[in-house]
Amino acid sequence: MTGRVTGKTAIVTAAAAGIGRASAIALAREGAKVFATDIDAEGLASLEGEQPGIESFTLNVLEPDEIDAAVKRVGTPDILFNCSGFVHHGTILDCDDAAWDFSFNLNLKAHYRMIRAFLPGMIANGGGSIINMSSVVSSIKGTPNRFVYGATKAGVIGLTRAIATDFIKDGIRCNAVCPGTIDTPSLRQRITELGKQMGGYDKAREVFIARQPTGQLAGPEEVAAVVVFLASDESSFVTGQTHIVDGGWAL
Ligand code: NAD
Repeated sequence: MTGRVTGKTAIVTAAAAGIGRASAIALAREGAKVFATDIDAEGLASLEGEQPGIESFTLNVLEPDEIDAAVKRVGTPDILFNCSGFVHHGTILDCDDAAWDFSFNLNLKAHYRMIRAFLPGMIANGGGSIINMSSVVSSIKGTPNRFVYGATKAGVIGLTRAIATDFIKDGIRCNAVCPGTIDTPSLRQRITELGKQMGGYDKAREVFIARQPTGQLAGPEEVAAVVVFLASDESSFVTGQTHIVDGGWAL
């Protein structure tokens, strides 16, 4: 059976858990050969067992040498999904230079470095689809205690539009995905932390659920479905855009 990305090769960062993992599975299920990468070797091993078509290796996107090694191993992909990111909790007054640098490095500079490394091959191949993980908490909307996170994710949107503009004639499409509140391991950690301050996990979970007018959290598969669309030729007329998956939070 032919899938929506059959015959294509994809590389996904931060693929051992959450949205990256669900996207690696969805891309492989739709026929792509997927290189799933992360710093979590154990998580990657379990991912390979879950879906045929996935080959995994450890890649710390903060390390330029590891990115160079990834280019040697993967060659030129048709699809690059930059999914890495970290949620720093707090306002500007809770942020110091170390927190600023860490968030910008993982959430934005890693995307820049990955694209810088893989783009020349994609151009030489006649094109490809780059998908960058942003967030609805960015230039789209503010939310309390997401100062440096929102700043990095707004940067991802700017980076995405710049690349889409500069390489449109080379067949490169570049889009950003902007999720709202997605039920992933890192979200559960944030709920646990908030629960300690407000009387339990379930109460804290209600606060996160209440952000969506739909009254639900989404699963990572719901974001992965958009990633597959952006990776596939079905979206050949779509570039430079922010694809919001947020249950109406930004309305
Ligand atoms: P997660 O936070 O649950 O998992 C993140 C993965 O990143 C882990 O497997 C971890 O090992 C890996 N990772 C951490 N540092 C790394 C590094 N240096 N190099 C490579 N991999 C590394 O995943 P999630 O919640 O699905 O978040 C994934 C992305 O989606 C992030 O960019 C996040 O900001 C974004 N996002 C998430 C939500 C949400 O509600 N979960 C909403 C909007 C945007």
